[in-house]
Amino acid sequence: MRIGLYPGTFDPITLGHIDIIRRAAMMVDRLVIGVAINRDKGPLFSLEERVAMIEAECAKLSEQTGSEIVAHPFENLLIDCANDVGAQIILRGLRAVADFEYEYQMVGMNRMLDDSVETAFLMADAKHQAIASKLVKEIARLDGDVSKFVTPAVNKALLDRLGKR
Ligand code: ADP
Repeated sequence: MRIGLYPGTFDPITLGHIDIIRRAAMMVDRLVIGVAINRDKGPLFSLEERVAMIEAECAKLSEQTGSEIVAHPFENLLIDCANDVGAQIILRGLRAVADFEYEYQMVGMNRMLDDSVETAFLMADAKHQAIASKLVKEIARLDGDVSKFVTPAVNKALLDRLGKR
């Protein structure tokens, strides 16, 4: 069974993430979405809230792609998480040149920690490529419309959390 791990912070999950999840799910039998606790990043949503939003959004994707999609919180090293969930491959989304430098370093170091886990990169559809959770939060905070970047349920959760309603 081919198992893939797609790790990130998902604070919150965006249409960019969902685009990558759909593509990733078609490549594996089981896709584990690794949700990093990332206390340093000071997430807007708790780990439980981020996991619940991912699960809600992925139920339909699971049916569409025919592969199992599960959310898995993790706090340890990425490569250890990959081994814990039995993933042979780590999947990441690549947005722009800015992502490349960091991802390049991560692959290099992860490979030195464990050479048996491969990392592959996927690109979202052009209309989803520029979406970043950080900017979505900023736009929503400043009363901008984020409905082109997140699903209606996530949009509502954002407005509620930011006290916009
Ligand atoms: P991280 O804190 O690891 O950057 P994110 O939740 O921001 O976590 O992103 C998780 C993964 O999804 C990363 O590989 C990131 O590059 C990718 N990603 C996020 N948004 C997009 C997008 N719009 N297009 C392609 N990949 C994306």
